Order: sequence, then structure tokens, then C-alpha cells
Amino acid sequence: MLKVCPNCRETFAGGRACPDCGPDALLLDVADPATQALLPELNLARPIRRFYAARRALIQFFVGLTFGVATGLLLFRHGVGVGGEAGFLWKVGGIIGGLAVMAVFVVAGTIHARRHASRDREI
Ligand SMILES: [Zn+2]
Repeated sequence: MLKVCPNCRETFAGGRACPDCGPDALLLDVADPATQALLPELNLARPIRRFYAARRALIQFFVGLTFGVATGLLLFRHGVGVGGEAGFLWKVGGIIGGLAVMAVFVVAGTIHARRHASRDREI
């Protein structure tokens, strides 16, 4: 849901009133037909790009968690059947490997979101 303040023309992901203009400035939903008159004045490409960048980063974060846990469990489980130092190394490698996979996806998602969601970035 994308909302816009009728006073300052700032966009928000939701909410009821504009935090900058005060509780009297009720936000308008851009999908509402009554708001259609305001749309030509608004540059909605940037806020929409911000929301999609945040959504993609969230998906990357979720994929990273899933693959990280799967990788960690696979490596850790491999170490369960192996005794001695090799088993210990497989288990530690599973923990470190799972965390590394998660970290790669989280960092990539963060970089992607910051690159595409910057307010200062020109379109
Ligand atoms: Zn406002």
C-alpha cells in the first residue's frame, strides 16, 4: 500500500497521518480513485522503486536463511557419522559454512536495497 501526504507530497508505506505534517494531514492511498487527481503531480517511480528494492532484499534475506540453514545442517550432519577430529571439523565447518551462506545473502540484499532504495538516487 502506497500512501501520499496531500500537503508535503511525501510517500509512505502505510499509516494514517503524515509524521512530518502532523496528525491533521491524513494520508491518501494512491490506489484510491479520489487520489487520481494528485498522481500527475507526484513522481511515484522513486517510492515504488524503494518498496520493490526492500521487498527484493527481504526475499534475498529469506533465501539466505533457508540456504544457510540447509547448508549448515548438511555439513553438520555429515560430521555426525565421522569420528575424531574430522567429525569435529565437519561440524564446525557446517556451522561456519551455514553462517557464511547466510551472511553472503544478507550482505548482498543489504547492498542491493541500499543501491536501489536510496532517496538521493536519480531515476
Ligand atoms: Zn506531510
